[in-house]
Amino acid sequence: MAVREWLRPKDTPISFFHSKAGDGGLQICQFTKWIPFLKLRQQERLENFNHPAFKQHKEHLQELPLKAVKYPEINNESCKTNEEISDKTAKDLYKMLDGRGLKHAKEVRAIHSWKTDGNKLQRGASFISSVKVHGNLLSMQARAARGRNETTMCNAGCNSRASLSHIPQECSRTHGARIRRHDALVKLVNEKLRNLNFTTLTEKKIKTTAGLRKPDIIIVNSIESWVIDAQVVNGYDDPEDLHHLKKQYNNPDIIKWIKDKTGCQSVKFTTITYNWRGIMSKTSANDLIDLGITKKDLKISDWKESSRNFLNIQYNFFSRAC
Ligand SMILES: [Zn+2]
Repeated sequence: MAVREWLRPKDTPISFFHSKAGDGGLQICQFTKWIPFLKLRQQERLENFNHPAFKQHKEHLQELPLKAVKYPEINNESCKTNEEISDKTAKDLYKMLDGRGLKHAKEVRAIHSWKTDGNKLQRGASFISSVKVHGNLLSMQARAARGRNETTMCNAGCNSRASLSHIPQECSRTHGARIRRHDALVKLVNEKLRNLNFTTLTEKKIKTTAGLRKPDIIIVNSIESWVIDAQVVNGYDDPEDLHHLKKQYNNPDIIKWIKDKTGCQSVKFTTITYNWRGIMSKTSANDLIDLGITKKDLKISDWKESSRNFLNIQYNFFSRAC
């Protein structure tokens, strides 16, 4: 109840509270589902306890009719293990409108541990705003109109519903905020790479036959160079698909430009792909990890930009535009 109170809105899906952190939830223990398993474990332990001092008591217990413990149910399906509960709770979350953007959270589970690891990198208010962005809980116009006879259309004149997918990703009013969010992400990753002693170029303008190109980060290396492009994508598509779609810099002119500049034989391409809820593409994460960035570094909630983290930056950008 307390968590529901500080999270607000009150129609936050129950499964968001109880799904595992790696699945996209807050991993708050669900006692009603957990207690039947404790009862079963207690019965099993009593049945298998063979100490002589307990023998008489055990015989007495066996005479008593044992109450059958009912397995917990989720959506009318019985769960016989804790894993089944986690699995079904997560599936329930992904069916919800607010849970859809978390569907691919489990692809890079480690980056979501900020919700449960108790680190002190975020102040209480920042933590709550991060959870609101992660859980799709910002009070936007379309959400406020749920169950009411009010318009759900964006009042910036976009001819779209003022939904949580529209405001951070499409709305004309938040165009500037989106550019600042992208630049903040590039800056944060570039700093991490420089700390790893890479020489990097950012937003270098390169003339190609397809027009002027400006890769976000180029790692200049005499053996193997990398072109890295950052993108914060929508919450509905699989970030992995959008990582593979972002191949615009896999361009022969860019490869030639880098080879001429560095003398390297190999140029690789990757992206920094997060969706706006903080879910990452697996290949993008693996490529960055291969470069030396740790899973802890990829935990965007720990990245500081003007004392705010990435999810928080979005909260500050977009909550004003709601
Ligand atoms: Zn709009």
